[in-house]
Amino acid sequence: MKILVINAGSSSMKYQLIDMTDESVLAKGNCERIGIDGHFKHSTGDGRVFETDVTMNNHTEAFIQIKNALISDKYGVIKSLDEVSAVGHRIVQGGSLFSESVIVTEDVIKGIESLIPLAPLHNAAHVQGIRACLEVFGDKVPEVVVFDTAFHSTMPEKAFIYPVPYEYYEKYAVRRYGFHGTSHRYVSHRCAELMGRDLKDIKMITCHLGNGSSITAIKDGKVVDTSMGLTPLDGIMMGTRTGSLDPSVVTFIAEQEHLTAEQMDTMLNKKSGFLGISGVSSDDRDVTAAAEAGNARAKLAIDILEYDILKYIGSYTAVLGGVDAIVFTAGIGENQCSHRSSVCHALEFMGVKIDDELNEKMIRGNEGKISAPDSKVDVYVIPTNEELVIARDTMALVTK
Ligand code: AMP
Repeated sequence: MKILVINAGSSSMKYQLIDMTDESVLAKGNCERIGIDGHFKHSTGDGRVFETDVTMNNHTEAFIQIKNALISDKYGVIKSLDEVSAVGHRIVQGGSLFSESVIVTEDVIKGIESLIPLAPLHNAAHVQGIRACLEVFGDKVPEVVVFDTAFHSTMPEKAFIYPVPYEYYEKYAVRRYGFHGTSHRYVSHRCAELMGRDLKDIKMITCHLGNGSSITAIKDGKVVDTSMGLTPLDGIMMGTRTGSLDPSVVTFIAEQEHLTAEQMDTMLNKKSGFLGISGVSSDDRDVTAAAEAGNARAKLAIDILEYDILKYIGSYTAVLGGVDAIVFTAGIGENQCSHRSSVCHALEFMGVKIDDELNEKMIRGNEGKISAPDSKVDVYVIPTNEELVIARDTMALVTK
């Protein structure tokens, strides 16, 4: 069975075609700058690459590019679209409506649309992706939606209710939802597998550290707390996002700078974090290089990131009543061993002990344990694979 996984953004559409017999990636690519000038890149598992500038006015036109590439003589990986058994879509916000993956129906689309106020850019784009898929693939190919928020739906009220007047929860569903759930789910299950234990018996903290970052506490196989909130702005500092702040910072700067809510939103989401502190870049590699070259603000940005990670791990250890395993994943978590080293050495007081040599080797897709044999806490680096989770959920639902 071959499954197409789609991650539709407002101006981009990433895809992977996965052969579920061995879970190999047959082809993957990205339609970028949809509705602007358009760029399309497609690569196959056996190393063929096709890249072109092409106008894509909307998501349907992007889907046509994907379809043509998948069945093309030179860059194709299937003979006809009939070989695609199902399509799985990543959806950012499932709100309180969706606590697990489901097959797409008109009601499901309406549900995702009803959550647009909670994730205006993301959910609107996902709906466009689903409808475009329906137009190009027809209604014989089942579609499944997998939600970033679903894994966090087990959080207790005390972790997800904000201490603002309760009526805002009732009126607008303002609460902590959490994101990157598909990634936290993948790495937590994989970690349990590597430990040879049942996830239900492991107190685990998973650190998804990328351009966007979130940290999750897992107990009895369930999420008990996570750092992102109503939106993916909360939690630890990120590439361009602030993470948690004293809310008065927002009202104070808005008043001083006469910023509208929209301008403030842009400042908090696009101009802050690594970029805002360092003034160098939102990319960890650039900021780390600048810090090593003596840039004090870049060094400060790195210090803040490592301090934030440390604080979350410390507080979640208290929430869990101890921790058996810590997992690092995503671009920074999988590659920037210097941050892992700083954080883990600071956790030595609670029995965390990493093997520095192993830590330095665990980069660029390597998976494994980086803690020393006598560490009281197992520490793992596990490359995330959200697409595979989406493909597995899709297969499970369409073969039910
Ligand atoms: P992600 O959002 O998961 O793609 O992660 C992007 C972040 O990971 C950026 O800040 C990158 O600087 C950082 N990163 C560090 N090393 C690498 C690497 N070898 N490949 C990709 N991202 C990396």
